[in-house]
Amino acid sequence: MKILVSNDDGYLAPGIIALVDALRPIAEIVVVAPDSNRSGSSNSLTLDRPLSVYRAENGFYFVNGTPSDCVHVALTGGLAFKPDLIVSGINQGQNMGDDTLYSGTVAAATEGFLFGIPAIAFSQVEKGWAHVDDAARVAREFVERHFELLPKPYLLNVNIPNLPYERIRGTRPTRLGKRHESEPVIKTQDPHGREIFWIGPAGRAKDAGEGTDFHAVAGGYVSVTPLQIDLTHNAQLDMLKMGLS
Ligand code: MN
Repeated sequence: MKILVSNDDGYLAPGIIALVDALRPIAEIVVVAPDSNRSGSSNSLTLDRPLSVYRAENGFYFVNGTPSDCVHVALTGGLAFKPDLIVSGINQGQNMGDDTLYSGTVAAATEGFLFGIPAIAFSQVEKGWAHVDDAARVAREFVERHFELLPKPYLLNVNIPNLPYERIRGTRPTRLGKRHESEPVIKTQDPHGREIFWIGPAGRAKDAGEGTDFHAVAGGYVSVTPLQIDLTHNAQLDMLKMGLS
């Protein structure tokens, strides 16, 4: 099996290094990841300047672009082969509910999915890399056991609690929960006294009920949500058809 690995925390992040170490025994791995932390970059592609691909000493390729750029370049001319699977992560911090719209981790996987390749995004629930090697073991075992589980291509969003391997209680299929609105922007001043703004944190969980990703990880389970890209609101489409006819 050939796996293309990317992330949004950058090619030096502990999460991608742990993930690659865990996957190497079961697959041929190529890493193409951003040169710096591009968390929150969603599915953006860089169109206003060219991209460069560099090779690090450990063999990882890194790109001065977004996670989507990395996978896009790899799949449309960078790689000499078509990977069997795209794996993104392991992200520092959860990507649950509405996070999936902003996440560069999910976006790297999505880019592969759009090219017809099965793709899995892995995130650790808490920031700080606690138990990242345990999370990487969970990721490898998930790939080993469930690569053939769904019709291809599929797009899976996996969130892993920061627990020692033995204390993870199992794996739960989930739907995305929902968050409250984001926290307010953080207003401060630059050294010249001008007002500047930092985007505030994501909102707290609003729909974290039974069956959601939030609920699964709170209970110590690995959450696995199958995603799709079609944003059409079919009920409203029917209403529009009636209203506009
Ligand atoms: Mn990230």
